[in-house]
Amino acid sequence: ERMIFLYTLRARVSEEIHRIYNSELLHLSQHDALTTISNRRTFDEMMMVFYQQTRADQTALSILFIDIDYFKKYNDFYGHQKGDEVILAIAKAIKSAIRHMDFVARYGGEEFVVLLPATDAHGAYAVASNIYKAIDGLAISHANSLVSNNVTISLGITVYRGEEQISKEELLSIADQALYRAKQLGRNQIYYQSLRNTSVI
Ligand code: GH3
Ligand code: MG
Ligand code: MG
Repeated sequence: ERMIFLYTLRARVSEEIHRIYNSELLHLSQHDALTTISNRRTFDEMMMVFYQQTRADQTALSILFIDIDYFKKYNDFYGHQKGDEVILAIAKAIKSAIRHMDFVARYGGEEFVVLLPATDAHGAYAVASNIYKAIDGLAISHANSLVSNNVTISLGITVYRGEEQISKEELLSIADQALYRAKQLGRNQIYYQSLRNTSVI
């Protein structure tokens, strides 16, 4: 009886270890190791869901691209380790500045993306301002930035209203263009790119 008990116990323990291991693997595959926010892969999946939802109910989906300004200069001056700390601090600040329904991911090295469901340009601008202020509030020194004494970000916004003729990829490319414009216009700012003023529509 005791042997049966021990075998059963061992089976249960190994089952539990297996379960935890699998959920940790799942978590690792969905999140970014440095910041613990969602990774690019999870973003791609979420983007698909949000895009289809927006098409189905013709609400507004705002997309926000965020990139740290002159970050190469930051790394060069303070070192890669300090650079990693900045990426982590910025990820946390973005996370705390957005609403529960919004989704944030680390899109690339020092680039983030936020999806804002049921949010028009006005709302997106308000969230973008909150993020901007949160980063500003961190007041992380950046002696080599050409635009400020502190670390700053550039933000690009675009809004999708379920238009048939725009693909997910085109939409992301327009949000990326908005970010590019914010950079071109001097960085440390928010730029809104309307879908109507692009060559896509
Ligand atoms: P811009 O204002 O135009 O965005 O200039 P930038 O220097 O930020 O842009 P660029 O794309 O030239 O450089 C991005 C830098 O970000 C280069 C790369 O070393 C750094 N970077 C990317 N990922 C990481 C990371 O995980 N950790 C650290 N410390 N640095 C990173
Ligand atoms: Mg950058
Ligand atoms: Mg970049």
